Amino acid sequence: MLCKHCKRSVSYDEMGLNKKLIRRDAEEFFCLCCLSKKLNVSEERLREKTEEYRRAGCLLFAQREKENESLDKRPLL
Ligand SMILES: [Zn+2]
Repeated sequence: MLCKHCKRSVSYDEMGLNKKLIRRDAEEFFCLCCLSKKLNVSEERLREKTEEYRRAGCLLFAQREKENESLDKRPLL
């Protein structure tokens, strides 16, 4: 997926932000830089929002594996 404005490639998380902040059924996406200009907020703030949504478990953002979960699945020796 490429940014509608500058044609830079848009990451999965950035697509999630577009959906969260612009519209859920967005078909055109902006990169973080263009999104920050469009919404008049700093890129730093957008990164914070990404982490907030991720922590909340939002599926529009790449979820990191929970460390505790993998520990639990480790076979007992
Ligand atoms: Zn852009």
